[in-house]
Amino acid sequence: MWTWKRPICAAAVGLVLGGGGLLAGDAARAEATAPAAGAYEVGRSYFGANGYIEYIPGDAPVILTAPHGGTLRPDSIPDRTKDACGGAATVVMDTNTAELVLAMRKSFHDRYGTYPHVIISRISRRKLDANRPLEEAACGNAEAARAFAEWHAFIDAAKSDVIRTSGRGWYMDMHGHGHDIQRLELGYLLKPALLNASDAELDASTAARERTGVRGMLREKSLSEILRGRSSLGALYARAGFRSVPSDVDPRPGEAKYFNGGYNTVRHTCGAEAAAAGGTTGDAICGIQIESNFKGVRDTPASRKRFGDATAQVLGEYLGAHWGLHLTAEAAKVRARG
Ligand SMILES: [Zn+2]
Repeated sequence: MWTWKRPICAAAVGLVLGGGGLLAGDAARAEATAPAAGAYEVGRSYFGANGYIEYIPGDAPVILTAPHGGTLRPDSIPDRTKDACGGAATVVMDTNTAELVLAMRKSFHDRYGTYPHVIISRISRRKLDANRPLEEAACGNAEAARAFAEWHAFIDAAKSDVIRTSGRGWYMDMHGHGHDIQRLELGYLLKPALLNASDAELDASTAARERTGVRGMLREKSLSEILRGRSSLGALYARAGFRSVPSDVDPRPGEAKYFNGGYNTVRHTCGAEAAAAGGTTGDAICGIQIESNFKGVRDTPASRKRFGDATAQVLGEYLGAHWGLHLTAEAAKVRARG
């Protein structure tokens, strides 16, 4: 199959790859560091220092990240603890989420002939939590802080490329939960108390419209319609065999445990709080966090393929209807020419 190798300017990343050149204590400023010369190729893996962060550039306007599926436990970085890190210092791994985003990538390509951008943290959550602000993520360790900077710089590179080629894009931060109810928890950055309200109350909340990671999609649609209408992402997933909350059939989390979206989703989507968290692209990239159940989604290669196939199909429908973003091969060709 013919694959279009489009170079991506490394200057957009602002990273020194392959080690050297970046002072260990300076990781938080890595994004401002002069980049190495070079270009990214679609489909090739690029790694930050020590192989902790992996970026596989794509050519579709979709970005998938897996911050909690890593297994590397270098002795040079102490385990994260509550005392050192503040916050809850959670160290639980989201099993098979690295494998899950790779399966989603393959399914997407099978359907559309293009690849989403994929960024994976290969380092254990014991050493770096790639879904927390810097202090709680790296716990003051310079090597972990560098990986944190690389993680976000790779995501920023993907976002810049998506905006340059498509004008807008979609971001999904992929996780795994261990909650009792076996369903996808779609995180729109809205707390359960808001989601548990009526549609009228939800739609009357200016704060909710501003905060959500799908803020850019709300110009012509109500928030309740986007979150749990018949053509919401949750509804489409449910019809494809993956029960989801919120959705038309599962509109509210109620009293059940539910994750509403974390640091990556705040920083890398189009919610109003993105800029304060270090986000760089304003309204152009919207998205959500997905917390997936294990059985039937992440547990086996067959489950991951089934979920990947469903995601590719669902995103095509959803992004075309709500975000003017068409994922077909024809649309990709138009973007490439443009
Ligand atoms: Zn997680």
